[in-house]
Amino acid sequence: MLVRSGLIRKIRRIRGPSPRPRVIVPPFGAMTIRHTDAVVIGGGLVGCLVARELANEGHRVTIVERAKVGREASHEAAGMLAPIAEAGESRTFLDLCIESRDLHAGLANELFAEVGVDVWYRNDGTFLLAFDDAEADALRERAAEHAALGLESELVAAGAARREEPGLSPSVTAVLSVPGDHQVDNRKLVEAAALSCYARGVKIVEHTPVRALVRDSANRITGVDTTAGVIEAGCVIVAAGSWSSLIGGFDVPVEPVKGQILMLELASPPCRRVLRSERCYVVARIDGRVLVGGTMERVGFDKSVVASAVGNLLEAGREVVPTLGSAFGGEAWAGLRPSTPDGLPAIGRIDENLVAATGHFRNGILLAPVTAKIVGGLLRGDAPHKAAGLLNPLRFSPSDHAA
Ligand SMILES: Cc1cc2nc3c(=O)[nH]c(=O)nc-3n(C[C@H](O)[C@H](O)[C@H](O)COP(=O)(O)OP(=O)(O)OC[C@H]3O[C@@H](n4cnc5c(N)ncnc54)[C@H](O)[C@@H]3O)c2cc1C
Repeated sequence: MLVRSGLIRKIRRIRGPSPRPRVIVPPFGAMTIRHTDAVVIGGGLVGCLVARELANEGHRVTIVERAKVGREASHEAAGMLAPIAEAGESRTFLDLCIESRDLHAGLANELFAEVGVDVWYRNDGTFLLAFDDAEADALRERAAEHAALGLESELVAAGAARREEPGLSPSVTAVLSVPGDHQVDNRKLVEAAALSCYARGVKIVEHTPVRALVRDSANRITGVDTTAGVIEAGCVIVAAGSWSSLIGGFDVPVEPVKGQILMLELASPPCRRVLRSERCYVVARIDGRVLVGGTMERVGFDKSVVASAVGNLLEAGREVVPTLGSAFGGEAWAGLRPSTPDGLPAIGRIDENLVAATGHFRNGILLAPVTAKIVGGLLRGDAPHKAAGLLNPLRFSPSDHAA
């Protein structure tokens, strides 16, 4: 367990010295927290926003994080908030994604006011790109699907699109403009969410893996068993992303899907919108960093960066924005998307004191705010969210738990 020293320094810069730091500094790894209202397992974006929401409701909350807060998928993602480009067959899921996208602007404002971090939320929209007739036909089909679903999108002539986005390749032949797909800097977002947790009194325990859920003789969850001892809790929320199924006693199946991303640095951003082709997406940060992603690989917990994948991403990115070829710096990384067998999140109560908030797969940055809202509602005893059936974590259970 280490001190969140960076966090503390930052929050002190913003708020002045704290008389009573909440970040836990146990001597030599000994556990100092023995009891809390709620333990959130995992300090990714989902865990941080859930903890923040529960703290706001007056619960005493502890995040227990295996390594460092906000350093896994939530750090390694691209930050697209793309309910429409990612729309699948389920209307309920689409509505959930739109609901969460609509929470991001307010969240960004709240976080800026609370902890002074601008998370670079932007609603400039997304261009879906075609490079040949077949891809242009596919875009026309997407436009018709969007119209049928009542979603806003518009086919734009390539020349007009290039006037909007001068960095676009002259090889683009057709463009579908999707104004409702937005973006955020996910690294800033998870950092701000962790700072906000700290400011709201959430205790953050790092470098402390949870080994298993703890049950009493009546089989009720009573806490978590960590490498530094047991923490008793009135409620346990599993937000451990791709590693969720490794926690003893947590039976929701979640497996990692690796994604590699190439980041290149330009003097200025080559586009305002997110640009998506059949082969890659290009997301430009306002400081000139450009992310080209991302691969989809079912290779277990392997996070290695592979040269051939990076080469393919560079080629795909240059097809979209040719000036990426003159980038002067860069980096590549890999992250693990937490996927359930049906690709949908598992959010909901498993038993009286156990809640799942995991399996967000390709859309965890997008869906983290609505996840926090759903978990907050569950613990308050609100009426179930309209997506509760779709998200039911018991749907994979062989028994007939699933409603
Ligand atoms: C390459 C890539 C691109 C992506 N792009 C996008 C995008 O553009 N838009 C989008 O919406 N989503 C995107 N995603 C998906 C998104 O990143 C994830 O869905 C989301 O970050 C999941 O958040 P999380 O908090 O559940 O998981 P994580 O951020 O992975 O956090 C889980 C945390 O739990 C901790 N943990 C695990 N096991 C334990 C344990 N036993 N005890 C204690 N702590 C534990 C981990 O250390 C980790 O910190 C992308 C993902 C990848 C990999």
